[in-house]
Amino acid sequence: MTDAKIPYSLNSKAVAEATRFWLHKRGVTLEEIAELVMLLQKKYYPNLTMEECIHNVEMVLSKREVQNAVLTGIQLDVLAEEGKLFSPLQDMIENDEGLYGVDEILAFSIVNVYGSIGFTNYGYVDKLKPGVLERLNDKTTGQIHTYLDDIVGAVAAAASSRIAHRKQAEREEELGLPHAPEDAEEAARRSRLEETLPE
Ligand code: MG
Repeated sequence: MTDAKIPYSLNSKAVAEATRFWLHKRGVTLEEIAELVMLLQKKYYPNLTMEECIHNVEMVLSKREVQNAVLTGIQLDVLAEEGKLFSPLQDMIENDEGLYGVDEILAFSIVNVYGSIGFTNYGYVDKLKPGVLERLNDKTTGQIHTYLDDIVGAVAAAASSRIAHRKQAEREEELGLPHAPEDAEEAARRSRLEETLPE
């Protein structure tokens, strides 16, 4: 089984690679997530390119909190598909039960990464279910994406928030103003992390 090829490891690179692997295996491309980002942001930034959207999706997916949520959610979907969960959790996840909202709670841990602006975007795509989300919500395929639909919407929402923060920082830079605190903090955190990470 392919699952066995991914050894459990706390190594960041392995977690990042597993995240990409499982998103791909579950049929979700970065481009499709980027399309959701474009849909959410093009009205505010008419010059926004798909490359920028893809880059921001990649940056969101590079965060460990996000990777943890993606892997946990996909794992539960796969176990539900294989009928391996105990009852009644099996039935709740299998049927995407209306009163079961843990999938959305898990998705919030992704949305949270870039602040509250992500909540609006998440709510919007969750209600509209455009593009890839429509496919993930198709209950006739035999696949279970109870968690993945929320996760994909949340990654797109977080990437949208990241763009909003970045654009603000760009504007401030143009005006010679200091960066917004969250960007400065993130830059500092990233450079600290990059120093400690092996190549
Ligand atoms: Mg769901």
